[in-house]
Amino acid sequence: MSESTAKSLSVESVAKVYPTRGEPLVVLRDVSLSLQPGEVAVIMGPSGCGKSTLLNIIGTLDEPTGGTVRLGDCDPFALSESQLARYRNEQVGFVFQDHHLLPHLSVLENVLLPTLAHRGSNDGVARAKKLLDRVGLSDRLEHRPAELSGGERQRTALARALINAPPLLLADEPTGNLDRASAERIGALLLELQHAEHVILVVVTHSPTLAARFDRQYELTDGVLAVS
Ligand code: ADP
Ligand code: MG
Repeated sequence: MSESTAKSLSVESVAKVYPTRGEPLVVLRDVSLSLQPGEVAVIMGPSGCGKSTLLNIIGTLDEPTGGTVRLGDCDPFALSESQLARYRNEQVGFVFQDHHLLPHLSVLENVLLPTLAHRGSNDGVARAKKLLDRVGLSDRLEHRPAELSGGERQRTALARALINAPPLLLADEPTGNLDRASAERIGALLLELQHAEHVILVVVTHSPTLAARFDRQYELTDGVLAVS
């Protein structure tokens, strides 16, 4: 196993409070979560309870107002701006509800995009093709996102999230915009690739079917995470 995959995730007493004109809005009160390589946590909870806020903090797209996040020995919020950009690129893979693919790039180019920042592209192309093969898109390499189905776009996004072999994969309602059959396929692929790549996966979902694929399920209520 490479060094980069043997990192555990530790979220400790994370809080997020938004200032408002009235009372401060407490979205996350005290969230703790600890995951080893290869482990998965599903986070459920009503709309507006803070699931995306929590996922964004774990992925460093947002900052906590209290508590700590660590991946291996690293506290990403202690990094400089440029170190943090590199951390996000190499350590975290994101799959959003909307695919966030670039419309003018092909499937293959979209998947390769995260490799351009910090490394040569030779092994990148081979890995991109392998990942696209695993998600069933070998015959769509030159398609543009507009020429794909919703499920195919999400499968491309999944391959892109894994291209740099990050130790941490985060998925925010990855099946939220898909029909049932496509959602099933993304669920199966998330499970399969998470296992094959031995990543830590944190997945936010409203779908009981997707949640049921994974062992550890949490409910986010009143800013606290509880095992459900
Ligand atoms: P979920 O993903 O569970 O639906 P979110 O994490 O998106 O919920 O949002 C949680 C709460 O935080 C919501 O009530 C939302 O209105 C509030 N919120 C999100 N971003 C901001 C912000 N930048 N400023 C103030 N409140 C925010
Ligand atoms: Mg959300």
